[in-house]
Amino acid sequence: MSFTSRSSRSSISPFRSRKSSEPPAKGTTARPTKPHSPKPPISPSTPSISSTKLSERSISAKIKENVTVTVRLRPLNSREINKGDEIAWFADGDYSLQNEFNPALAYGFDRVFGPATTTRQVYDVAAHHVVNGAMEGINGTVFAYGVTSSGKTHTMHGEQKSPGIIPLAVKDVFGIIQETPGREFLLRVSYLEIYNEVINDLLNPTGQNLRIREDNQGTYVEGIKEEVVLSPAHALSLIASGEAHRHVGSNNFNLLSSRSHTIFTLMIESSPCGDNQEEDVTLSQLHLIDLAGSESSKTETTGMRRKEGSYINKSLLTLGTVISKLTDGKAAHIPYRDSKLTRLLQSSLSGHGRVSLICTVTPSSSNTEETHNTLKFAHRSKHVEIKASQNK
Ligand code: ADP
Ligand code: MG
Repeated sequence: MSFTSRSSRSSISPFRSRKSSEPPAKGTTARPTKPHSPKPPISPSTPSISSTKLSERSISAKIKENVTVTVRLRPLNSREINKGDEIAWFADGDYSLQNEFNPALAYGFDRVFGPATTTRQVYDVAAHHVVNGAMEGINGTVFAYGVTSSGKTHTMHGEQKSPGIIPLAVKDVFGIIQETPGREFLLRVSYLEIYNEVINDLLNPTGQNLRIREDNQGTYVEGIKEEVVLSPAHALSLIASGEAHRHVGSNNFNLLSSRSHTIFTLMIESSPCGDNQEEDVTLSQLHLIDLAGSESSKTETTGMRRKEGSYINKSLLTLGTVISKLTDGKAAHIPYRDSKLTRLLQSSLSGHGRVSLICTVTPSSSNTEETHNTLKFAHRSKHVEIKASQNK
């Protein structure tokens, strides 16, 4: 059964789980997005071949922890090669990364992806389980973190010949829907940026400086535009149109680089087909995030760039603190409120939400310090012992 025909069934209001008496029309702004509570993926009363497939896929996810931290090393680029840069950082097996010139500098992670790894392989290990969880009602967040030109956008958005995690996830979501005839799904997307701690709606140019509100269901962005999507191409075309509204600037690398965080969110609502639709409605959010460059703002020369840099540093520092508190399990006080990014994601990061932090780095000897800073951030976010036996 096609997603389109299922989602357009007139007998069932796809918004019936909402408390609001007036369901939002297609493509309008909407809030009553109930934050997720992990629920059983497919009602046991509606067994189907595809529901079995879904759980087998979850079980086979290579990483099952709620929070995973991975590092992706890109190849040296032509600029670095032309400068005569050497490889300063290399993947030592699948779980650790080491400095060529100082073997004492070695860090362990849930997974380290070497320069030959494709984005599809990164997706399978670091994102598929998050997407799969979101389809089962568990919130998910995937971040790409790193300095400018380390490979964040290549990893999240990709290019035509090497699609990134966002297009792969969107395709996966529609694929899972096709394989799950026992349930009907409604998908909505939003796309926003956080620039200098100001939230702008990338799907609606007039949606500037939006506020974060909180109700008993969690935090939400007031007035954000949510578009119902009916195909992968539709979802991706919205991202392409939103890209035109991003803030970009030229930094000290003399490259166009993002100074804002962008958050692409898929809101996934599903319920069993048939008569018992009021039961077992799941609602989850999948956030796919291309973070602003994490480079130090100390070298920034203009006031404007310094201001951007300090906002970026503050929100990334808060993100690292939040993730490390989530992973150490103690979590007495988690400072979600210290940045818009973490406040907005609070419902997804807390509880049983799945979080994947993918840190991108260059192996280049001319960026040793920046790469080291990213590795320290990643390591602080989640401390993983070097698994010597698995590396050899
Ligand atoms: P960022 O978003 O972190 O600033 P980009 O993703 O734009 O960096 O990457 C900078 C350049 O390096 C781009 O031309 C991109 O295609 C290339 N690149 C990044 N990562 C890889 C990779 N793993 N393999 C091949 N090329 C890559
Ligand atoms: Mg980028």
